[in-house]
Amino acid sequence: MKFYIKTFGCQMNVNESRKVAALLARKGHDHVDTPEEADLILINTCSVREKPEKKVLSLVGRLAPMGKMIGVMGCVAQQYGSELLEKNDEIKFVLGTQKLHRIGDILDDVMRDHKNLVDVNFVDAKESLEIFREPLIQTTCSAFVTIMQGCDNFCSYCIVPFVRGRERSRPSAEIISEIEGLAAKGVLEISLLGQNVNRYGLDRPHDLTFHDLLNKINAIKGLRRVRFITSQPASLGDDTMNLFGRLETLCESIHLPFQSGSDRILKLMGRGYTRGEYLEKIIKLRKRVPEIALSADVIVGFPGETEQDFNETLSLIREVRFDTLFSFIYTPRPFTRASDYPGQLDKDIKTERLQRLQAVQRAITLEKNRQQAGKIKSVLVEGKSKYPEGYLMGRTRDNRIVNFEPRGDVMAREVAVRIVEGFQNSLLGVMEEEPCI
Ligand code: SF4
Repeated sequence: MKFYIKTFGCQMNVNESRKVAALLARKGHDHVDTPEEADLILINTCSVREKPEKKVLSLVGRLAPMGKMIGVMGCVAQQYGSELLEKNDEIKFVLGTQKLHRIGDILDDVMRDHKNLVDVNFVDAKESLEIFREPLIQTTCSAFVTIMQGCDNFCSYCIVPFVRGRERSRPSAEIISEIEGLAAKGVLEISLLGQNVNRYGLDRPHDLTFHDLLNKINAIKGLRRVRFITSQPASLGDDTMNLFGRLETLCESIHLPFQSGSDRILKLMGRGYTRGEYLEKIIKLRKRVPEIALSADVIVGFPGETEQDFNETLSLIREVRFDTLFSFIYTPRPFTRASDYPGQLDKDIKTERLQRLQAVQRAITLEKNRQQAGKIKSVLVEGKSKYPEGYLMGRTRDNRIVNFEPRGDVMAREVAVRIVEGFQNSLLGVMEEEPCI
């Protein structure tokens, strides 16, 4: 059977779709690039932002005339379960976040019995992480590796603990062996994934902590770069921060969502840190690596957010000067405490604040990218550049995109590039005579 996967949401979902694709390929099915070519369309969903169920159903509505078999998996599948089958006849099965490893069996059952199926039960930690044991069909120099799933923080606005379940860490031996396998296939960079990677291993008392895991990964032969996402600031300890600048593989960038610059709002969000504590961590990170690239998430228009609270968020952005910022408007999500909080703001206020915030950040990002001009950066070459023609595209260790004119075949290698100009979203460079490696 030919299958196509449409993925919504974060890198964790992207990685899970790749694992599902690898599992189906192992069972003899063919992964195709367009829904037109497919017999089966899988939709891997995300419910972190507003109206995800509507998005999925409208996509199913658009795909329906093609007459293909459709399966929905991931967070929306978990959240709505059998309701999805009731709302649309085209959906043949619904698979929850902890059941992706069952995709092959579910497909067999649906085809054999011609019955629609729903499997969204939460299972034990071992079974829920089974999909990650499937080896990736790796074709690039960079790969994701999920190290844990779920979250115990229950921030007041977040649906994740309800649709992904509680924190579960994969055994470290399994993670190390996966990364060794990837490195042996030529992967130079890995990004470790989890909702809160700093709490890796806390549910496995006889296994490694996150800090120990990073140390072990650093020793893997052939691996050049390690990143991790996401860190909840309250859980990011000195032990991990001290590894920056010490571990050769650990890239000089970190994503550290602050969500608000106001202590009052941070408390309502249940984030477990204050503005001052967040800023202290930034100072410590910059002491270790002065040029460390900082990215973060921020929410605008949380219930009860006043103009003063919002100004405190703006002042934090100006103080830290993030390299990149992902900004979102608050939307109430089911099951969450904040959806019942008083003081829900009008959409117009939230939109206006978001625009102001983005203007501040855009100026900072552009200025910081322009400051890269003249520097020589190590760039891991990922593919062809969209523009200019004939150029290649890669990423620096501090996570900036660089387009540059290549010398010879340097695809999937780390090369030295002199930056000539910085733009809003990327840098332009010239490759040096001598590659880095
Ligand atoms: S740390 Fe908070 S925002 Fe992040 S996944 Fe957990 S509950 Fe959601």
